[in-house]
Amino acid sequence: MQEDYLKAGKIAAEVREMVRNKNWVGRTVYEICEEVEGEIKKLGARCAFPVNASINEVAAHYTAEPDDPTVIGETDLVKIDLGAQINGYIADTAVTVCYDTQFDVLVQAAEDALSNAMSMIKSGTKTRDIGRTIESTIKKMGCKPIANLSGHSLDRYTIHAGKTIPNIWSIGGFSLSEESAYACEPFVTTKDGGGFVRNGQTRNIFAINTRKKTKDAEADRLLDYIWENFNMLPFALRWLTDKWEEKEARKLLETLIKKKAVQAYPILIEAGGQRVAQAEHTFIPNEGGVTVTTKA
Ligand code: MN
Ligand code: MN
Repeated sequence: MQEDYLKAGKIAAEVREMVRNKNWVGRTVYEICEEVEGEIKKLGARCAFPVNASINEVAAHYTAEPDDPTVIGETDLVKIDLGAQINGYIADTAVTVCYDTQFDVLVQAAEDALSNAMSMIKSGTKTRDIGRTIESTIKKMGCKPIANLSGHSLDRYTIHAGKTIPNIWSIGGFSLSEESAYACEPFVTTKDGGGFVRNGQTRNIFAINTRKKTKDAEADRLLDYIWENFNMLPFALRWLTDKWEEKEARKLLETLIKKKAVQAYPILIEAGGQRVAQAEHTFIPNEGGVTVTTKA
């Protein structure tokens, strides 16, 4: 188990660094998502979820539609969030790419907050202390944390396993356990931002809710296909179109959503319409410190 977490982490880190060092201006989000997912597979892992390529004020949960024409512009700030899994053991990591220097401070604040958080972790670290460190690092740089986005515990075939790691100081929380996997992911906006996200209209990432049959034979066939290929992990419409026509896949997916067999995740948008940067690592605490499975 530990072994597969490490293998997935090494692959995810390698792909993330490739993403960081590449100039994506002029490329479509479809090309980005497909290329990054292709790299994960090439290195021997499976995708833990569709690559997210969330632009500017969209903080998270946007992935390419089939043949998505959205092109990355010179002043865009793009969060690329990727997941690799081996036997269900997940590495979840993200990087923000931006080619307009006026937004470098957002990217730097997210990276510094993440690295300060990683430096303080060992088993027993209180999540409220992590939240305080992330918040104060971001505020010292004149930026604002996104209060209602947080890191999370990970489990086999489960990305959000129930526990959250806050990006702001907050009461309560819990102490990190030894040998459990978690993701830490600070999100940063400008001081003029709302500092929280709201749901958008677009929904293009999905996951199984229940395997209960819908009495629609073709929809049930799609449900079985999703379970066999993605288990409970998120998927995109793009991942169904080698088996179903796009229009047909969309219709069957709508049926599964209506029957609550599948849930759709809305995109998350900065409430004040300001740009958002993100950085993310997956880590496993131990007695003496931490193994950052996705470290470069
Ligand atoms: Mn992520
Ligand atoms: Mn995550």
